[in-house]
Amino acid sequence: MQKRLEKAADLVQLDAGVYRILATPYQELTVSVPVKMDDGSLRVFTGYRVQHSIARGPAKGGIRYSPEVNLDEVRALSAWMTWKCAVVNVPFGGGKGGIICDPRRMSAGELERLTRRYTANLMDIIGPERDVPAPDMNTGEQTMAWLMDTYSTHTRSTTPAIVTGKPVGLGGSKGRREATGLGVAFTVRESLKHLGLPDKGCRVVVQGAGNVGGLGALFLHEMGHKIVGISDMYGAIHNDNGLDMPAVLDWLKDKGSLEGFPNADYIDNSQLLTLDCEVLIPAATENQITSANAADIKAKVIVEGANGPTSAEADAILEKRGVFVAPDILANAGGVTVSYFEWVQNRMGYFWEEQIVFDRMERIMVDSFNDVVASAKKYDTSPRIGAYCKAIDRVAYCLDLRGIYA
Ligand code: NAD
Repeated sequence: MQKRLEKAADLVQLDAGVYRILATPYQELTVSVPVKMDDGSLRVFTGYRVQHSIARGPAKGGIRYSPEVNLDEVRALSAWMTWKCAVVNVPFGGGKGGIICDPRRMSAGELERLTRRYTANLMDIIGPERDVPAPDMNTGEQTMAWLMDTYSTHTRSTTPAIVTGKPVGLGGSKGRREATGLGVAFTVRESLKHLGLPDKGCRVVVQGAGNVGGLGALFLHEMGHKIVGISDMYGAIHNDNGLDMPAVLDWLKDKGSLEGFPNADYIDNSQLLTLDCEVLIPAATENQITSANAADIKAKVIVEGANGPTSAEADAILEKRGVFVAPDILANAGGVTVSYFEWVQNRMGYFWEEQIVFDRMERIMVDSFNDVVASAKKYDTSPRIGAYCKAIDRVAYCLDLRGIYA
């Protein structure tokens, strides 16, 4: 991220002082979180919240629970959120949080107490106008409901806009579950249109069959494309004539794995990435397309559903080979866009039908795609660096208008 940011900052000729501001998080908090465990013992966990930028609006970003959480990672992810929110032009800055813990070894009661105490410790820096958390790795709707209740208890007010990704019954937005996958499908459609490729019948390969990959593949199947390969963490299925996506997702739900799906070859994840296809969607995890496999990728278009699936070395190889890469900060921003809609609906106290959510998200995704392509053209660079240039322009513009209080 840092390398890409430096490159984009050079291209937009960003002022050195502004670069220093953007290279440094606005605010970081490390908290000790005491939790009474079910066995009566008391443990103290370490939690973080980093606000990278609030130039364009309240900090926005998820909270992850994992043994691997560390401050450097949270810092990098919070900056990523600044750029992602700026690319889709929603009025948020960037933030991220995390707690070092192993949620698989904790009971629901322990996780609830952990979440509530962490929230209590963050009271001075979070709020609908300050910093709006969301789910991330190993956190979900229930975590957000606990966070919202704790915040509301402390402020003596019901404040749904303190978090996004809540259950719909508590003020979550309709369409949030589908948002990222649908945004990926819109980005595929716009990429194909941009390259003059057919709007139906393209062969699509998807790594990851979860919220982003599974639903993204389903929407592309409904748009008339052929999903020829899809994987989960155990392996992949492949059929050159196209997979019946609704049946694939039903199978996965029933069996917990793609293995054994009828009329498909079972292959491994590394073979999946180099299958013959027009479109490849890495939607599983980071660092999947690297210098080791970038030269063998057959796709003409890569649409990044996951965060950081392509290494900087692979970028250079793909660019040289003329592969069009729609970058993560654009392609998977449908999720944060609908999170923004959730925050807006919470503040209005008025809730939108699902189709309205999808239509408004589509408009933002299409406009953002066009902005990124125009920026790449203006600076004669890749869509990825073009997206960073656009994001930096927007953040720097707000900093300039507000003036720097230095
Ligand atoms: P998920 O847990 O619902 O699904 C992940 C899928 O990837 C699963 O099918 C899993 O089996 C598979 N997988 C995991 N590791 C794998 C590996 N090494 N090789 C192949 N497959 C593997 O997660 P998700 O919400 O779909 O998120 C996927 C990615 O998209 C992550 O990088 C996430 O940060 C990013 N993302 C998600 C959202 C969102 O709204 N869910 C928004 C933006 C970005």
